Amino acid sequence: MTTHKVFYFSHAPENVYAIIREEITPGLELVTLGDDSDSERLEKIAGCEVVIVAAKPMSRIFVEAAPRLKLVHHQGVGYQDTVAMDALKEKNIALALTPAGSTIGVAEHTVLLTLAACKRLPYADSELRRGRWHINSLRPYSFELFGRTVGYLGMGRIGQEAAARFKAFGTEGIYFDPYMTMPPEREKELGLKRVEFDELLAKSDIITLHVPSGDGTHHMIDAAALSRMKPGAIVINTSRGMVIDEAALCRALEDKKIAAAGLDVFEKEPFQKDNPLAAMANVVLTPHISAGTRDALKTKMRALFQNIQRFFNGEPLENQVNL
Ligand code: NAD
Repeated sequence: MTTHKVFYFSHAPENVYAIIREEITPGLELVTLGDDSDSERLEKIAGCEVVIVAAKPMSRIFVEAAPRLKLVHHQGVGYQDTVAMDALKEKNIALALTPAGSTIGVAEHTVLLTLAACKRLPYADSELRRGRWHINSLRPYSFELFGRTVGYLGMGRIGQEAAARFKAFGTEGIYFDPYMTMPPEREKELGLKRVEFDELLAKSDIITLHVPSGDGTHHMIDAAALSRMKPGAIVINTSRGMVIDEAALCRALEDKKIAAAGLDVFEKEPFQKDNPLAAMANVVLTPHISAGTRDALKTKMRALFQNIQRFFNGEPLENQVNL
C-alpha cells in the first residue's frame, strides 16, 4: 500500500499531535515539526503530498519548496489570509476547507466573550486575586443579555449558530449580510430581522462579527462605523483581526464611546503585550482560540482525513475552494 505523507504545517505541542494521530486513516503518514522553525518547514514540506494549514500562513516560498504537493487542506475555513492562493492555482494544487468542528466552537466562544465583556470578567477576576472585592463598583458597568439587541455582521455558518445561542438568552437579533438569502422560516426560527449596515450600527447593543477576511471587509469597523454605534455598545470579534481598525477601536474604548470589547482575533498575531488593548480594563482578550477545543480538533481531523482519503481514491473533494 502506498503511504502518502501529510505535513502538519503549524507547530503544536506533542499532546496536540497525539490527538491528530488518533484520527489518521490507513495509508497516510503524519509529518510534524520539532520546532516552530521555517527552515524545518522548508525541509519537511519537500517530501509531502498534502499539507494541513491552520493559523501559520503558508506563503509562496513553501509552495515552491514542495514539488510533490497535490493538496492543501485548511484545518478551518479562514483560508484567505493563510494560504498563497495564486501559487496554488499556478501549480494546479487543490485547496479544501474544514467547516466541520469550527462552527460550534466559534459560536460558543462568541457567547463566552460577550458575557465576559458584559460583566468585565477578566478585570473582576484579576482584581479579586489581588484581594480587591468589587462587590458594588462594577455594578454601573455590568449588563445582562436579556432584552438586548444583538447585531450580526455576516450570517453564514457561525453567525447562524451564534444567533441560535443568543436567542436562548432572550435577545433580539438583527443582521447585515448582502451576499446570502435566508429563507423566511429560518429567520423566524432564529428570531432575526435583516437590516442595512447603518441601521445595524445604530440599533445594536452588541455587535458581533462573522464575516470572512478580504478586501470587502477590511476595516469594516473603522472610526466612522464606531462613531455611528449606540453609545455604550459592545463589540465582539471572533472572525478576523483585519475586520476592525484596532487603533480606532482603542480610541472608542478609551473615550467610553464603546463600553467593552471581546476579541479573539487581532490585526497583528501573535498579540504583543505592548498592544494598547492589553492595558484596558473593559476588554476581554483570547489568543485566537475560538475553535481551539479538543472536541473541535477531533471533529476537524476526522473530517479532514476522510476528505484526504477521498482525494487519493479519485473521488470529488468536499468543501473544495474554486481557485
Ligand atoms: P461563512 O462563509 O459561512 O459566513 C460568512 C458570511 O459573511 C457569509 O454569509 C457572507 O455572505 C458574509 N459576508 C461576506 N462579506 C460580507 C460583508 N461585507 N458584510 C456582511 N456580510 C458579509 O463563514 P463562517 O464559517 O461563518 O466563518 C466566519 C468567520 O469566522 C470567518 O472570518 C472565519 O475566518 C472566522 N473563523 C474564526 C475562527 C477563530 O478561531 N476565531 C475559527 C473559524 C472561523
